[in-house]
Amino acid sequence: MKKTIIIGAGPAGLMAAEVLLSGGMQVDIYDAMPSAGRKFLLAGKSGLNITHSEPYEKFISRYGEAAEWLKPYLDDFPPSALRAWTEELGIKTFVGSSGKIFPAGMNAVPMLQEWLERLNEQGAKFHFRHRWLGWNEKNALHFETAEGEILTEADAVILALGGGSRPKTGSNAAWIPILEERGISVAPLKASNCGFDIQWSEHLKTRFAGSPIKSVSLSFGAQKKRGEFVLTENGIEGSLIYTFSAALRDEIEKSGSAIIQLDLMPDWSSERLLKALSKESGSRSLSNHLKKQTGLAGAKANLIWEVLSGNARNDERELAKTIKALPLTLLTPRPLDEAISSAGGIKLDDLDQALMFKKMPGVFCAGEMLDWEAPTGGYLLTACFATGKAAGRGAFAWLQRRNS
Ligand SMILES: Cc1cc2nc3c(=O)[nH]c(=O)nc-3n(C[C@H](O)[C@H](O)[C@H](O)COP(=O)(O)OP(=O)(O)OC[C@H]3O[C@@H](n4cnc5c(N)ncnc54)[C@H](O)[C@@H]3O)c2cc1C
Repeated sequence: MKKTIIIGAGPAGLMAAEVLLSGGMQVDIYDAMPSAGRKFLLAGKSGLNITHSEPYEKFISRYGEAAEWLKPYLDDFPPSALRAWTEELGIKTFVGSSGKIFPAGMNAVPMLQEWLERLNEQGAKFHFRHRWLGWNEKNALHFETAEGEILTEADAVILALGGGSRPKTGSNAAWIPILEERGISVAPLKASNCGFDIQWSEHLKTRFAGSPIKSVSLSFGAQKKRGEFVLTENGIEGSLIYTFSAALRDEIEKSGSAIIQLDLMPDWSSERLLKALSKESGSRSLSNHLKKQTGLAGAKANLIWEVLSGNARNDERELAKTIKALPLTLLTPRPLDEAISSAGGIKLDDLDQALMFKKMPGVFCAGEMLDWEAPTGGYLLTACFATGKAAGRGAFAWLQRRNS
């Protein structure tokens, strides 16, 4: 029987394994870590948003420049199919208020357990604590294990080694030099869905780091979105920031910084705000006046004091203007280690339609190690599952061709 080796037991690698096992192939899955799906489990800690229910064309557009390239794979395993597949595993799914789709319980543990059980029943052989080091001169796969280094061979290989964020989960991008040595082009990995550094005052840092900023609108360029984020010691992070992170990162690369504008009171018109702020404050302090007239206090109010100083604070027009368009200068993206995901990766031109390396017949690739990026919202996992499925199908067809 033809044998496939999959390296990387994350969502992409496991999905590729499922396709091959369903076709009756022998599949050996190797991973450097002691167990499977560590990043998937980490994703579960913040809710595990597996996909999104928005109209499909809009869904596809979230992949930006890579949308056209990814479309055939997503067409083949769209959000509806991913949802049905999850339910088939025995895990109910639901659509959250924002249209995001989650497994019941918003927990990755039962989903991964069910999936691994099914793969084991189908005959998958797992080899944990096997760190892939590359190929030897005879093209055998080279692994480091606790018992020493081993060499092994397969009829097809699928690499699903992940991106470069959160390296403690196992995805440390050590594959980059290995593949570059084989002539594969890799776009440099960059932080995606990441926080950004802002030069806060000591006061804001010590008093408000960790505070959520809810129900605000963020504008950058032509884009405007409502949501929430968190103040950190170094700057800002959270879902609203991640939505803009690719554009912000690119702007910082181009211009050295990026300025966003926050509307702290998106439900109030500027006129209503000015009218409220123009009311007599009596003996009240400015902070108390602001709180009484607008409800703004705590972290939100202190954001205003970060950007407005001296006399401008007592000018209700300036105050109203700042509340509706509070400028924040972002200096640098947080490091890749801390990001949710990475941009960059194996350049798509190096792969054929079946996700096989043009320069390495029989070697396929899937998941976050490919050169695409997407915001949070379930888009990352959907594309990992979809490309995992495509690489599994590609390897299956390749093995069948070699059989005949
Ligand atoms: C905090 C957090 C929250 C997230 N939340 C969501 C979410 O809600 N929704 C969403 O869509 N996405 C989310 N993501 C992103 C999502 O988890 C990843 O995009 C996805 O796991 C990538 O899948 P993958 O199979 O390509 O790679 P990974 O899941 O990274 O798996 C790669 C595997 O390869 C193994 N490996 C790497 N190098 C080697 C080597 N040399 N030898 C052997 N094995 C190796 C690793 O140990 C790992 O098991 C989140 C990520 C993080 C960090």
